[in-house]
Amino acid sequence: MTEDLSNIHMSKAEFQEYGYRLVDWLAEYFDNVDQYQVLPSIEPGDIRKMLPVSAPEGAESMDEIIADLDRVVMPGVAHWQHPGWYAFFPSGASPVSALGEFVAAGLATQGMMWSTAPAATEIENTVLDWLVDLLGLPPSWRLDEGPGGGVIQMSASDSTHLSLAVARHQFELTGVDANSLVAYGSSQAHSSIEKGARVAGFKHIRSVPVTETFGIDADAFAKIVRDDIDSGLIPAWVCSAVGTTNTTAMDPIRAIAAIASENGMWHHADAAYAGSAMICPEFRELQDGVELVDSYTFNPHKWLLTNFDCSVFWVADRSKLIDTLSILPPYLRNETEDNPAAIDYRDWHVPLGRRFRALKLWFVLRSYGAENLRTFIRSHVTWAEELESKVINDSRLELAAPRTLALVCFRHTDGNDATRKLADAINASGSAYVTPSVTDDVAYIRVSIGSTWTEQRHVEDLWNLIDSNAGLK
Ligand code: PLP
Repeated sequence: MTEDLSNIHMSKAEFQEYGYRLVDWLAEYFDNVDQYQVLPSIEPGDIRKMLPVSAPEGAESMDEIIADLDRVVMPGVAHWQHPGWYAFFPSGASPVSALGEFVAAGLATQGMMWSTAPAATEIENTVLDWLVDLLGLPPSWRLDEGPGGGVIQMSASDSTHLSLAVARHQFELTGVDANSLVAYGSSQAHSSIEKGARVAGFKHIRSVPVTETFGIDADAFAKIVRDDIDSGLIPAWVCSAVGTTNTTAMDPIRAIAAIASENGMWHHADAAYAGSAMICPEFRELQDGVELVDSYTFNPHKWLLTNFDCSVFWVADRSKLIDTLSILPPYLRNETEDNPAAIDYRDWHVPLGRRFRALKLWFVLRSYGAENLRTFIRSHVTWAEELESKVINDSRLELAAPRTLALVCFRHTDGNDATRKLADAINASGSAYVTPSVTDDVAYIRVSIGSTWTEQRHVEDLWNLIDSNAGLK
């Protein structure tokens, strides 16, 4: 049976017509995103009710499909790009990044090997080398210097999981019992640390106590390591948080590195959020000692205007990562497999296929330029400082943790109920969204300033909202 397939695809003219329409649609969205309620007023199941039970048998028109963006999708969108979005950490995005994503989707290359995607591979090599310098990281992490190198992963969780897998592999090569390996992270570390350790097969995962500023207590860490060794276990991996999720606390990398190196451990740094700030030299003291770690991850998809997914993972010695992951079946053999100038990224992460994620990052770095990116980060930190000083000067409120970058954590002095009520009032306004959290049974409100379209006036509006609700009638 010979079928003519040409009619089933969108024609060039249709692609142009609907492509332009969708660019217009998104441009309007960017322009009006502040007009929406930050979180939609819907119940679970509401969107599903608007969708048919089965997939269409016949083709639907693009007019119908596009109409459903407004009818079905928009009522269920949580507007992460709203200027009043202060929850979690920001979901980095920008028009230029969306364009990069669009082109990458159209090219639809598979970057598993240099030979299957030479441009995608070399652009990724290059922008990650640029970032080493832009963030003030060790030059030996540049691929063109070595022995380190960087790769784009889907998420910081993936990067952390990989560093655990590499550490485990290194220990297994020495013939030790993998069931004795121990992974350490602070009690404030992101859940991806425990999840990654579980997935990487670690049987022992320790939560290390923190000091009053929520960074790892290095003395307590040293003691736990000694106790584990005394019980016959093998300390194998430790994570330093460069900015915890709860409060942006910084672990003392240099002190942890000394303990890690004394005990032959793999030392990973999780800078998922705070890493972007290192583009500004004045913040780099927060990660003092970073040159001593074995691996490092940060997310341009949080605070560097690059759409999810884009998490960078650097290793100080790439051969260890490649040794852990490299498997070369006959169908992947290729002419450049032994050429050091041709990086095969399939050996740098778990999946085989990979998207051209570097394109949007390349677009962002070029279109903004480093100086505008620094201004973007510095502005958020300045507005956070302003908000922090308003909190400090208001007798109804107090800081719940020291502020390091653009995350302000505060609570109501009347206690947990009052704090939760204040968070609820802010979120019920529809114009701002903050995250209520709890550490050591103390409730507090996280205000993370960093969304693409947030301006100083929006942060002032947020303060007015806090101020008018802090009386808590
Ligand atoms: N690590 C830290 C410190 C984070 O704050 C987060 C997310 O907020 C993550 C890891 C997880 O990031 P991802 O969603 O990229 O896995």
